[in-house]
Amino acid sequence: MAIRYNTFEVGVDLRAIRHNYRILCEKGSNVYGVIKADAYGHGMIEVARALESEGADTFAVGTVGEAVQLRRSGCEKRIISLLGPLNEADCLALAEDSIIPFVGCFDQLNMLVSVAEKHQLEIEISLKFETGMSRLGFSIDELAELIKTLKAGPQIRPVMASSHLATSDDPAYEGYVDKQAEKFMFILNTLESAGFKVEASLANSAGILKHDNVHFTAQRGGIALYGANPLSGTSWEDLGSRLKPAMQVRTKIAAVRELKKGQSISYGCTYTAQKDMKVAIVCAGYADGYSRGLSSKGAVCINGRRALIVGRVCMQLTAVDVSSIPDVKFGDTAYLLGGEGEGAISPDDLASWWGTITYEVFCLLGLNPKSYV
Ligand code: PLP
Repeated sequence: MAIRYNTFEVGVDLRAIRHNYRILCEKGSNVYGVIKADAYGHGMIEVARALESEGADTFAVGTVGEAVQLRRSGCEKRIISLLGPLNEADCLALAEDSIIPFVGCFDQLNMLVSVAEKHQLEIEISLKFETGMSRLGFSIDELAELIKTLKAGPQIRPVMASSHLATSDDPAYEGYVDKQAEKFMFILNTLESAGFKVEASLANSAGILKHDNVHFTAQRGGIALYGANPLSGTSWEDLGSRLKPAMQVRTKIAAVRELKKGQSISYGCTYTAQKDMKVAIVCAGYADGYSRGLSSKGAVCINGRRALIVGRVCMQLTAVDVSSIPDVKFGDTAYLLGGEGEGAISPDDLASWWGTITYEVFCLLGLNPKSYV
């Protein structure tokens, strides 16, 4: 019999992810599910299956390795690798498993052309363009040479074109989004004039929710699928308010103890009780991906109430103040993310205490074992 050891557990609600996907589909058409980095820590294969049951037919993963893993799990839908091939083995793997790679520079394209010629393969690709992110992608200046190369090597067939928005979640940069959209439109028109009619995607979650002018013929939705509002903290916040967080992170209380006035707690004695207190020691620490940066900053949710972290987060233990929470006892559940009632911890709460973004919170906590509903 398999023994399940679940002191520290990441629970993923696939129903929430399906709900969030439906919201994205209401706003945009042809939404690709971005499930890179193990679906932002939520579990790539489980999330892909949940989205498939909602009708999703294209998935975007981070690397060729992730794409192969998804294909070998039995997924028969279109799979895009947002990072294209880096060597010949990658090129062969994506040809074998019918994976569409993003291709954004001549080093990559020429490698694909030569592997395709050598092994007599036909490979579909998604062209990646630089319009303002300055990370990956062909520039507008390279378009003419790109078209020449594509015409000379018909084994490589572009079926999509894409670019990535740098500022779609920030009202202060609306003009920047428009400029990226204009550049992308110019690129699409140039490709079409050259005889390449492709599916076009520019929008990420914030683009889908807020910027109708960047929808083109497909969109790539990531963070919103997992229920974090990509627009939170902005004047557009309400647009993401119907999203439901899918990840809950819970652990157990290992001890409840008194902390006397003047007594310090945890490494470095950075926190000293100003009055007599009751603290709970919860089984979570930086070894679980629960950042040490939360020391004396964050909170957990116990019995529907907030319990503030006191002192330093340790490797697998963290102390929290439960002085004002009645009936807390050994073995009770503490939520690091999620929970019930007023004390529930939202992804935004945790990210702001942590000094980061919800993407990182999900990815790091999602490295732990998961259970699904
Ligand atoms: N497209 C690309 C190329 C990405 O790198 C990402 C995520 O970082 C996305 C789409 C999805 O973005 P978001 O999670 O903000 O929806």
